[in-house]
Amino acid sequence: MLFDTHCHLAMDDFKNDLDDVVLRAKKSGVFMLNVGTSPEDWQKSVEIKSKYEIPTALGFSPHDAKSLNEETFSLFKNLLKSANSSGVGETGLDYHYFISSKEEQKVAFEKQLEVAEEMNLPLIIHSRDSFDDTLTILKSVKVPVVIHCFTYGIYEAEEFLKNGFYISFSGIVTFKNAEKIREAAKIVPDDKILVETDSPYLAPLPFRGKRCEPTFVKETALLLARYLNKNETLFCKQTFQNGIKFFNLTK
Ligand SMILES: [Zn+2]
Repeated sequence: MLFDTHCHLAMDDFKNDLDDVVLRAKKSGVFMLNVGTSPEDWQKSVEIKSKYEIPTALGFSPHDAKSLNEETFSLFKNLLKSANSSGVGETGLDYHYFISSKEEQKVAFEKQLEVAEEMNLPLIIHSRDSFDDTLTILKSVKVPVVIHCFTYGIYEAEEFLKNGFYISFSGIVTFKNAEKIREAAKIVPDDKILVETDSPYLAPLPFRGKRCEPTFVKETALLLARYLNKNETLFCKQTFQNGIKFFNLTK
């Protein structure tokens, strides 16, 4: 039993074989949470939710922050309710690419944070090269927070944990040069750790470079379990239960 707590099934990469991708995941015992990251994604995500019974989170990713306006924001709020969304996100800050400006990202982040609190939904956070601002904005948040696809080190993990946040590891943690991330994983308590694929991106070893899909969460979970000296079965079970608890799902 495993939980891929973060995948993007609405993306075009899956448009020809989503049935197969979902079937493979379900057959291998992988439960999924799909993340819709832009106004273009949301409707498809809602359809995926009803067709495959895959819970969904909706948000403006930092890259898509620039698409936030009155119209898309009210669509966002309506869909969160009507689709019974399990979370808000991914939102946050990406100071690596600046596909949306810093200002646009901050505005979108803060607005989504307010909505999450209003609706009492957990927040999925994307944070890249933006640790200080991410933490400052999240400091007084009142809903559960996960730092998705964690790519910082021990210090940042400590600070996030002090605030009670969950930390989620993607396929990146399996890469040879990711020692810093693996070191940080060592200090994350058992009940705060999640795993994810971020499909279609970031396929773990030995699939690096290929299109990623939810079944691959197994490679990430097993590598982490071994690295952390944990029983593999128990680790998978624990991360599964953490995901269910975090997103308040009963399954
Ligand atoms: Zn993502």
